[in-house]
Amino acid sequence: MKDIFCRIIDGEIPCTKVYEDDDVLAFLDISQTTKGHTLVIPKKHYENFLATPAETMEKVMKVAQRIGQAEVSVLGAKGVNILTNVGECAGQTVMHFHVHVIPRYVGGEGGFQITMQGQDTSTMDLPRLAMDIGKAIK
Ligand code: AMP
Repeated sequence: MKDIFCRIIDGEIPCTKVYEDDDVLAFLDISQTTKGHTLVIPKKHYENFLATPAETMEKVMKVAQRIGQAEVSVLGAKGVNILTNVGECAGQTVMHFHVHVIPRYVGGEGGFQITMQGQDTSTMDLPRLAMDIGKAIK
């Protein structure tokens, strides 16, 4: 079965379009975490960030950057969160690669919080951890 973003691309479901070219579509997130929250997706289906080829990634991220710049210049955002979730355990609910471009305003409009709580690293072998990841990079 087609995912909901493929159905948007195929015109079966409406979206509030922000930008479109041959490879990329951007539209307002239906749930507006903050005013202007936009999703940027490749028109070709890839399940997530990790499964997306570099060439497509470049196109999507370039559009995400331009949208972030526009959110600052037009909406008066003072910052922007650019994020993408990979896998259900990381919060991905639509299995079609997408980048969230979320404008941030002074005062925290939208009540959107990202908290990254650090763990106790005293029992971790950090150099070994870095080496294991580094060696596996393709
Ligand atoms: P994620 O949880 O990272 O997979 O993000 C999926 C996002 O898609 C959520 O923020 C949803 O609000 C958004 N979403 C789901 N359906 C639609 C839709 N029909 N139009 C616009 N945004 C949608």
